[in-house]
Amino acid sequence: MRAPLVIGNWKMNGSLASNIELAKAVAASNLSDNVQVAVCPPMLHVSAVAEQIKGTKVGLGTQTLSEHDNGAYTGEISANMLTEMGVSYVLCGHSERRALFGETDKQVADKVKAALAAGLTPVLCVGETDAEREAGETLAVIERQIRAVLDLQDVFPATVVAYEPVWAIGTGKTATAEQAQAVHLFIRTLVGSETQILYGGSVKATNAGELFAMADIDGGLIGGAALDATSFAAICNAVR
Ligand code: PEP
Repeated sequence: MRAPLVIGNWKMNGSLASNIELAKAVAASNLSDNVQVAVCPPMLHVSAVAEQIKGTKVGLGTQTLSEHDNGAYTGEISANMLTEMGVSYVLCGHSERRALFGETDKQVADKVKAALAAGLTPVLCVGETDAEREAGETLAVIERQIRAVLDLQDVFPATVVAYEPVWAIGTGKTATAEQAQAVHLFIRTLVGSETQILYGGSVKATNAGELFAMADIDGGLIGGAALDATSFAAICNAVR
């Protein structure tokens, strides 16, 4: 049985003080026993957020990691450095990393591999652009992004998949529950029945229930709405 999971991606938002307050508020929220919850603060705020959520049901994640173990990689952070800080989840191949920082499928697969080797739970982000959907390439794009990690040993169900149509991220446009379910069902054929598959893309307290009611949507990866503890808690509590 797959546990529902909701992860907040805070991106490069907030200050140290405001993110401490946000972490405190999320940790103090009344969260259903049913749902696994994690937040991904900016890297520099990880230890301060860890302090606030210690001993609560809120887990710690980060928004990326290096695919390398150590060495001359200026500015990078390794998987082992994350585990040392109490991190459990790490986003790999978020569409902003792919589009803005040139991360390739191969590099994303190497990040998933590094995360698994360190005992972290990778959250492999996949999704098509508007142009790819218009061209009828949605499933081919998703399959290519997932096949890049399928050769790794024991990758699923240890890895979570997040389906995030790029056209729905931060745009206010959300895939309909039926559109999302169709892609999740396809992903399920690739990753198996035990893997958690999250939906991301303008999920709000108002649409979360409908999305999470679908058979193959096991929760959400939440951007903008995760910056408000009340909205985030309502989304967490909307799981089946
Ligand atoms: C995201 O970036 O992972 C995301 C889902 O953002 P938003 O919820 O703001 O669309």
